[in-house]
Amino acid sequence: MIQMVDLQRQYKLLKAEIDAAIQEVLDNTQFILGPKVSQLEEKIAAYHGISHAIGVANGTDALLLALRGCGIGQGDEVITTPFTFIATAEVIAELNAVPVFVDIVPGTFNIDPQKIEEKITDKTKAIIPVHLYGHPADMEPILSIGKKYNLKIIEDCAQAFGAEYKGQKVGTFGDCGCFSFFPSKNLACYGDGGMVVAHNDDIARTVRMLRNHGGSVKYHHELLGYNSRLDEIQAAIVAVKLRRIEEFNESRRKNADMYRVHITRDDIILPGEEPDCRHVYHQFTIRSDRRDSIAQALKDHDIASAIYYPIPLHRQVVFADSETETDDLKISEQCSRDVLSLPMFPELTEMEIRQICKVINHAS
Ligand SMILES: *Cc1c(COP(=O)(O)O)cnc(C)c1O
Repeated sequence: MIQMVDLQRQYKLLKAEIDAAIQEVLDNTQFILGPKVSQLEEKIAAYHGISHAIGVANGTDALLLALRGCGIGQGDEVITTPFTFIATAEVIAELNAVPVFVDIVPGTFNIDPQKIEEKITDKTKAIIPVHLYGHPADMEPILSIGKKYNLKIIEDCAQAFGAEYKGQKVGTFGDCGCFSFFPSKNLACYGDGGMVVAHNDDIARTVRMLRNHGGSVKYHHELLGYNSRLDEIQAAIVAVKLRRIEEFNESRRKNADMYRVHITRDDIILPGEEPDCRHVYHQFTIRSDRRDSIAQALKDHDIASAIYYPIPLHRQVVFADSETETDDLKISEQCSRDVLSLPMFPELTEMEIRQICKVINHAS
């Protein structure tokens, strides 16, 4: 059996360090906002060369708190892609703001900057580019549109820790960068966890207050906040993995190269990688009209595959009554019909990749 992500292999590799890190938390019993969370915040801020990093409960909350930190609320329009995980748009709607969907470019599966301006109205307040599958969105034009219309930029980096665009880390381009440490992400914990990074002192201060009931001094509440703290044990686990993140992302990139070599069918579109980008391959996602029979052939050989995502967000029941026009979201719809993500994790072996590709190449 080859799984999409085999978490046991990485745990076995890091067991001694991870067990020791967890034990340290158990021994000092500072379970909430203790030293592990603040140390991890410092390390992740330093990794990105950014002033602030704030640990939160999960990646969804990272987006929610970032939006609030940027002042997004009732009636505001926020532009994003429909070809992403629900969380990206869910948080917009939860703040009674309106998600406005812009189609993607097929090569990178990311928001098409050329189609953003036509969706801007006087209510537009922000753009959320998603660095889907670990490939950076095309930030330069997005930033200049943001500047021109005075929009906040909140990057959804949940799948892209360590990815780079023109030599700069994702998460550091916009007003906020939002990360998830969900167990299957490139940098992950063993439960839920997330992080917001930000340049601006006021935005960071607001996010920091929001995660802890809207105050910075205990029992003094300035804002209507949340209980959305990063757990100390999870922070300890992320810190261990952060030491190896470059190595892990490089292994993913090598695995992607091997897929490219060994997939030889010409009716398969391989994922794009723009020359000025460092893709970190959270997913290796191919496109094919025959994706269902390829998935079935893999399944018959005990090999997992997955469809991220089968329904674009504007087609989801929860957004069905929104006024989104769907005519101009054709590429997202097409990708939902033909994408297939293959097993991808750092410890995947060349032998397994060869085995997977052989099945793909011979599928009917
Ligand atoms: C995983 C993910 C999220 C949400 O992160 P959680 O930690 O699961 O809340 C948001 N956006 C994208 C693109 C994701 O892949």
